[in-house]
This record gives sequence, C-alpha cells and structure tokens, in this order.
Amino acid sequence: DWTDKGAAVIYKIEKNPSSDEQATKIIKKGVKDFNFGRTLGEGSYSTVVAATDRQTLKEYAIKILDKRHIIKEKKVKYVNIEKNTLNRLGDHPGVVSLYYTFQDERSLFYVLDLAANGELLGVLKRLGSFDEECTRYYGGQILDALDYMHTKGIIHRDLKPENILLDEHMRIKLTDFGTAKILDQNEGESQDQARANSFVGTAEYVSPELLTDKAAYKSSDLWAFGCIIYQLLSGRPPFKASNEYQTFQKIVHLDYSFPLGFPAHARDLVSKLLVLDPKDRLTIEDIKKHEFFAGVEWGRAIWKANPPKLR
Ligand code: ATP
Repeated sequence: DWTDKGAAVIYKIEKNPSSDEQATKIIKKGVKDFNFGRTLGEGSYSTVVAATDRQTLKEYAIKILDKRHIIKEKKVKYVNIEKNTLNRLGDHPGVVSLYYTFQDERSLFYVLDLAANGELLGVLKRLGSFDEECTRYYGGQILDALDYMHTKGIIHRDLKPENILLDEHMRIKLTDFGTAKILDQNEGESQDQARANSFVGTAEYVSPELLTDKAAYKSSDLWAFGCIIYQLLSGRPPFKASNEYQTFQKIVHLDYSFPLGFPAHARDLVSKLLVLDPKDRLTIEDIKKHEFFAGVEWGRAIWKANPPKLR
C-alpha cells in the first residue's frame, strides 16, 4: 500500500561494471534527482511531465499522481494495478517501462519511458488515415507488444489509439495499465479469463463479452486490436454512435461495415477479429501468419526496422 511511506519505493539494482565481482549497487532515486520540464499531458488524477535525470542526463516522462485526489475519487486500486502491472512487464520495446517510483507528502511519482511523439491517435488525426504499409508497421508492433503482455499473464482491457504512444524513433509503446488484469499464474493454463466487476474500457473498443457476460479474456484485447486496424485504415473506429448506449448496441449486434476501398486482406483480418464469440477470434499466432502481415519478419526485427513514411 503506497500510503505506507517507503513501501512503494523501487530499488533499482544495477550491476557495477567496474567491479570484477559484478557487485550490485542499490540506487534509490527521488524528486531531487530530476530536473522537471514541460508538461506532456494531463489525466483525470495525474500530470505527466518530461524530466531529466541530473546524473545521467537521460530523459524520462514522470507521471505525478495527487494522493488526496486519488483517495477521494477511490482510485487507489487502479494506481496500484498500474504499478504492479508495469513492474511485472519489465523490459520490452513495445511497453512503457517503469524505472523508479517514489513519493513526497502530496504526490506519487512514476518514472517512465518518455514517448516523445505522443499518442498514435494524434498522428492518425493529423493524417486522417494510414495506408496499408503504415498500418502493417504500427499494427505489427502493437501485436508483438500484446503478445508479450499476454505471455506475462496480463490483459490490457483498454487498448485504443490514445493508449498507444510513440517514442522518438516513431516506435509504439503501450501504456495505461490502470485497468489491466493480472491473471493468477497459479490458475495455470485454465484461464485466460478475468471477470470484470464493473465496466472497464472505452465504449468504442469494448468487447461484446464484457458487455454481455462482464468477462474479459486475452482475446478481448484482440477484439480491440481488430477495431484499431480498422480505424488506422479508415480513420474511424468500426463501432461509433452518438452515445455509449448506442455504441454498445452496435457492438453486441456486430453492426459495422467496411467503407468502400477498404483493402481486401485487411478486411479479411478484421472480420476474423470482430467475432462475437471470443473463442472464435484469430489467435495472435494466426494473425502473424495472416496475409495482411505477409512479409513481416516477426520478433526483435520489427523493433529495428525504420518506420515507413507516414501516409
Ligand atoms: P486518465 O487518467 O484520465 O485515463 P490518461 O491515462 O491519459 O488519462 P495519464 O496517464 O496521466 O492520463 O497521461 C496524461 C497524458 O500524458 C496522456 O494523454 C499522454 O498523452 C501523456 N503521456 C502519458 N504517459 C506518457 C509518456 N510515457 N510519454 C509521453 N507522454 C505521456
């Protein structure tokens, strides 16, 4: 519990290269170790600020959460889920890393990877839509990051273009794990499932099983992935109405259509992801082999390739 002072501090253990014994050195960082710069964005109970480590000059994004506000709004649970999930995810190029956490009287501080190019949604809005090559590039990275997350036993549950950030090299980094579900590893293979007690997610990307059974599966993230592929190519999500209720109605009735000129392979892929029964959706392995992603070299290679020209 972070209200217990000190308990939330992460000790970063680094190998000391100058020592033959590879002795470990424990570094505890605090507010004084950073120069705080421009504000990158505001959330409902947090502010994200660019900051530089005074010693290493490495740049980070520091998420500053207001303790009183979090308690008042009953968000303690989500703040802890976010930290625990990020700690479990460790190091992957497609996921925002959490380096340190510390706190002062008023605030919690999460020191994160800086995603210098902001949200994928912003880029998409500026362009209108992406061509197939760009969709393949960004879609491939999103899928690889999802694959990693799922193997770590985490369901994101709120995947959408606002939660997909872009680093300085225009490579994606998933963020916003406050509503993620950590699957209990003791439950073994048996369940890739989690029950959701209340609505989580964003109306347009929420899966039908969450609306009808209050259940989220790993494949619920693949429903959202299908919505995102559709949106990247067409400029708008497949299920959109003037209010949440109407949007939900469209989702549970699979009421969507492809705009004219939507590429054929992408159409086939999306229609095999936007499937009402979560068991009948393509798996990540299937998606990787799908014709839409033909020619993609999966694995670390997709994180080294230069991004295509945006169009
Ligand atoms: P809410 O809490 O209301 O759901 P949110 O999740 O967007 O909103 P934050 O996580 O505090 O809230 O993020 C606020 C803004 O800061 C976001 O809109 C995002 O664009 C930006 N941001 C968040 N994390 C980073 C990061 N690691 N690098 C760069 N910008 C970031």
